[in-house]
Amino acid sequence: MLQANAEEFCTECRKPVSYHLQKKTVTRCIHGKEHTFQLTEAVCDECGSEMNLPGLLDTNALETDEQYRSAEHILSVREIKTLMRLYNLGKAPLSLAMGFGEVTIARYLEGQIPSQEYSDRMRKALASPDFMKSLLEENRDKLKPAAWRKGMESVRQLEGIASLSPPLRQSIAEVLSRLGEVTPLLMQKLLYYIQGLSLALHDQPVFPEPCQAWIHGPVYPGVYQVFRDFSFNPIDDDRFAILRETENTLTEEQKALIHLVTDTFGLYGGKVLESVTHSEDPWITARSGCPADTPSSTELSQQDMKDWFLRLGTRYDLRSVEGLHQYIQDAAFCLFHPIQ
Ligand SMILES: [Zn+2]
Repeated sequence: MLQANAEEFCTECRKPVSYHLQKKTVTRCIHGKEHTFQLTEAVCDECGSEMNLPGLLDTNALETDEQYRSAEHILSVREIKTLMRLYNLGKAPLSLAMGFGEVTIARYLEGQIPSQEYSDRMRKALASPDFMKSLLEENRDKLKPAAWRKGMESVRQLEGIASLSPPLRQSIAEVLSRLGEVTPLLMQKLLYYIQGLSLALHDQPVFPEPCQAWIHGPVYPGVYQVFRDFSFNPIDDDRFAILRETENTLTEEQKALIHLVTDTFGLYGGKVLESVTHSEDPWITARSGCPADTPSSTELSQQDMKDWFLRLGTRYDLRSVEGLHQYIQDAAFCLFHPIQ
């Protein structure tokens, strides 16, 4: 990056001089239309003439490109890359799915500016999985079957993600950004502890979705649908990172609680936490004597969850990392060393 205060050679003064950077307004004609850009120039501190700094031309070229695209509502290269990640499609398959020529997206990634029509189509696909689905159906015969299936599967997952409430989506994004790798089972348990602790400590849920008393502990069915393809593998899904960049529905207090849960419960395996939830009242009550291997979709009561964690709070400091570790260790110890 360009640094002020350094010395560079001034061709007027014929010696190295100090200089300063300032903004200048430049008008250029692009596609027969006048555009104004805010660019950076370097000025000699001694004679006041404009200087040619290494790197300045590149910086201004990039600035011109971004300002032009922003003014004309043309998708940026970064947004096109996001589109590829969202639908899990490479340059060529995405091009064909959009109804473009096979190398069109590759050219855009190299800096060619999309037409307004193509840019609008990509922007719409970025915002709407449903629109992408219609494009994939329309252009099905142009894509290889494997690529087409990958695209359709991404559409299905994105629709699932869209059906979750914004605070639940953002909670998942927070967990993923904090832990990096999380199995679907662990994710379910962390969401349950985030919700339970919030009910006890803040007297309100973080997200509106109820969880159900499934065989393997409390489960949020919508979240299960989104991640079911990961099975027992860590969720490696940067679409939630994209959401994290664009959404902000959680309070600082809620984010701090999520970090507390990831820094404690998040260090254990999903199976250990599943056992711990099996020893807790809210899940046991919702199962109400249902045999261990029988599916149930009974919802855990928020009141039960709140009461349980409030009771736990009389024995452990639920606001501290130490208190939560102590609870998990005690609960896991009881499970693995049952009193005979
Ligand atoms: Zn000079």
